[in-house]
Amino acid sequence: MVHWKTIKQEANDVANGTTSALANVNKSLKLIQDNEEFGAIISVIKDRSIERAKFIDAQIAKGQKVGRLAGVPFIAKDNFLTFGSETTAASNMLKGFNAPYQSTAIEKLEAEGAICVAKANLDAFAHGGSTENSDFFVTKNPHDKTRVAGGSSGGSAAAVTLGLAPFALGSDTGGSIREPASFCGVVGLKPTYGLVSRSGVVAMASSTDVIGPITTNVADAALVLDIMSGKDLLDSTTIDNDPKGYELNGAKSNISGMRIGVIKEYMDDGLDPEVKKVITESIEIFKKAGAVIVDVSLPSLPTALAVYYIVVPAEVSSNLSRYDGQRFGHNDINAKTLEESYVNSRSQGFGSEAKRRIMIGTHVLSSGYYDAYYKKAQTVRTKLINEFNNSFKSVDALIGPVTPEVAFKIGANSDDPLKMYLIDIMTVAANLVGVPAISIPAGLAGDMPVGLQIMAPQQKDRDLLILASEFEGLIK
Ligand code: GLN
Repeated sequence: MVHWKTIKQEANDVANGTTSALANVNKSLKLIQDNEEFGAIISVIKDRSIERAKFIDAQIAKGQKVGRLAGVPFIAKDNFLTFGSETTAASNMLKGFNAPYQSTAIEKLEAEGAICVAKANLDAFAHGGSTENSDFFVTKNPHDKTRVAGGSSGGSAAAVTLGLAPFALGSDTGGSIREPASFCGVVGLKPTYGLVSRSGVVAMASSTDVIGPITTNVADAALVLDIMSGKDLLDSTTIDNDPKGYELNGAKSNISGMRIGVIKEYMDDGLDPEVKKVITESIEIFKKAGAVIVDVSLPSLPTALAVYYIVVPAEVSSNLSRYDGQRFGHNDINAKTLEESYVNSRSQGFGSEAKRRIMIGTHVLSSGYYDAYYKKAQTVRTKLINEFNNSFKSVDALIGPVTPEVAFKIGANSDDPLKMYLIDIMTVAANLVGVPAISIPAGLAGDMPVGLQIMAPQQKDRDLLILASEFEGLIK
């Protein structure tokens, strides 16, 4: 399924005429068509991609300078606002919605010559971990079609695994980049909160939403982050990027002597033994490279999932209130009164998971319950942040699994929300705390991929990427 060289090589090949932007776009469009059965793609951006490719090729023919991603196709999760196709967030609510502007991340990539060729499937509004909550269809895991690709960025992870394009974009509110990356055996990076602008990405939970790349290797993820990151006037939560940038360019960290913490709570009984074996082997790899391995306990970690499933639905219920069928979103044209229009538009447009989260969120924010749930959850969240900060005083990075088990069978958990939520148990903390985290392929359990999760302190994305790339080199 390897159809592409590294992003840098692909861009160089276009710039020096070894191939063309148009050939790349056509190749990507053909691969998308040939792999329809996996359900990774919701819509194809055909005309605009071809037009942009021709434009870039013409620039090259004239000897003009082109960007760092000239002629490199990519795929965006369908919660990124893009031109040339609908943006649906895989929901009936937004079906038919043509965005009036593009997200900042897409604009930045396009400014460097990248070409967005398609929009990937997700759980509607990014609520879920398997794409089974997509209002349209389920994405199948490229390693085993009877299994999920993960979610909510399942379409993006499957697309990169299938080689439909050299990279894809995802969003990660509680694990939605790392979990599908782990399930599909590709690299998924959730940057520090605020490092990449979310302007023009359909909001899920604004205090944890982050966007990031899904790639086949760490250097590619670093390059894409380098381009997307940094302050943006359109997203007031954005922060400055590392003055050193994120591109690796052969940068190395000295693993020897580095202190790496193994998160004790993630290695407990709930972890599938085969997944545990892969993670234990990864720890050995770090040890052999000279790292000092320390057990780290974060006592509030077992409460992280409960905190997440209070804070996130609270923010989801607020963010989804804008879909009222009046300004945008599905509108029931048969409604006879304004109230009926609100009720029908929302009842028809939202799927059951969005409704569940709206109800939970509204409940925990309502007077009389606010103190018992929302306020308490925020207090524990602060405790968790303090515990992470303290642990990073004595270790350079934290490692552990991404998920308790490998990609599960389609349908195995979909009618049990609690079972679905439990899959997020090892990913949500990084979002609540705002630290960068990455999933890198670490081995197989049976025939299915297992990712290793590495987390670093806030804004240490560069160090995280360098360490992840070293690990990638050691495991190959
Ligand atoms: N699976 C998690 C949830 O359902 C994470 C979703 C996400 O990161 N978008 O909330």
